Amino acid sequence: MAEQFTGNFTQQEALGEEEMAAALDVMRSGRLHRYNIAEGEIGEVAALEQEYAAWQGAAYCLACASGGAAMQMALRAVGVEFGDFVLTNAFTLSPVPGAIVAAGGIPVLVETTEGLVPNLDHLERIAVESGAKVMLLSLMRGHLPDMDALMEITDRLGIAVIEDCAHSMGATWRGKRSGSFGVAGCFSTQTYKHLNSGEGGLLTSDDAEFMARATILSGSYMLYDRHVAGPSADAYSQARLDMPNCSSRMDNLRAAILRPQLRRLDANVARWAKRYAAVEAELRDVAGLTVIERPVDEVFVGSSIQFLRPEGSAQDFLRACAARGVELKWFGASQAVGFTSSHHDWRSVPQQELPQTDAVLAGLFDMRLPLTFSVDDCRQIGRIIRDCALHG
Ligand SMILES: *Cc1c(COP(=O)(O)O)cnc(C)c1O
Repeated sequence: MAEQFTGNFTQQEALGEEEMAAALDVMRSGRLHRYNIAEGEIGEVAALEQEYAAWQGAAYCLACASGGAAMQMALRAVGVEFGDFVLTNAFTLSPVPGAIVAAGGIPVLVETTEGLVPNLDHLERIAVESGAKVMLLSLMRGHLPDMDALMEITDRLGIAVIEDCAHSMGATWRGKRSGSFGVAGCFSTQTYKHLNSGEGGLLTSDDAEFMARATILSGSYMLYDRHVAGPSADAYSQARLDMPNCSSRMDNLRAAILRPQLRRLDANVARWAKRYAAVEAELRDVAGLTVIERPVDEVFVGSSIQFLRPEGSAQDFLRACAARGVELKWFGASQAVGFTSSHHDWRSVPQQELPQTDAVLAGLFDMRLPLTFSVDDCRQIGRIIRDCALHG
């Protein structure tokens, strides 16, 4: 009998007793809005912002409604205006070009290497051609490009970098946290990411005036002095009346269930690493499969794994894996399916010729590794994929 995997690829871990107790406290208080605080109270959202800023090593943190909202506010706060070109990866998911379009920008897509990161030669060429002054760098599926080389190019060309860290929360490049290289880092606490509040986002930066603009944009009204992890009042002198209110706050209930999770994040990064390594070990040296080599300077979070299978029928391979309980996503499909889409599907983005990206996506398979999977589960998943690749 062929091995069969019976786990669920979309099942996250349950929240713990601490999260439940914290949520009950907020509900008992009735004070769910972030600015609804009792005398002398900081509030759950402001406390989360303080703790996240400390963990990330950032001067400031702003909690907001979603990762996508964090990106939109970051783009506006960095100065994107209607009709501006904004560079981003061709290989990413739809909320990334979506944030650029929502901020009034026009996405300019950068080619993707077989390491699943932006092609830096193409970045430089297209940056000069388009004249774009902002890049929304998506650290898609947690793959970090050579951040030193990328920042050298963007600094030289005067391009402000906003990092989309939806999949790289906890990753580092040469010991420096992802999200700390550019002007700002944008993080998601949506259920499938590294912290789970259903929906939610975190924006970090060391730039006081940038953060003041983002805070007003998020809908702080004139209550910005309640942001204990925000800049001091003088940073707001221009922003307070210049910036529109885009109502995109996080609430105390979600912040309350995120704070205990943040304390376990580093331990979870280690748990993900074991799961990733277990799958990867089975996929190495399999004819027709290429694992993605990770640079030595990168510490990544193994919450998902990708590999290339450039030859053979993708549909047959997907079906064979699915029949044995392994749900793979394929980025080469001709139509968007579920959460997976490609630049061809984004009609709000001007179409571009991206031959290198298309060649990579045609053979690119992707799989989540939720922490509900044991390391043994991951070994089994790896064996099944290997088997299906070799024998169909
Ligand atoms: C999920 C995701 C986001 C945005 O997160 P939301 O909180 O769902 O808005 C941004 N970038 C990538 C690559 C994502 O997968």
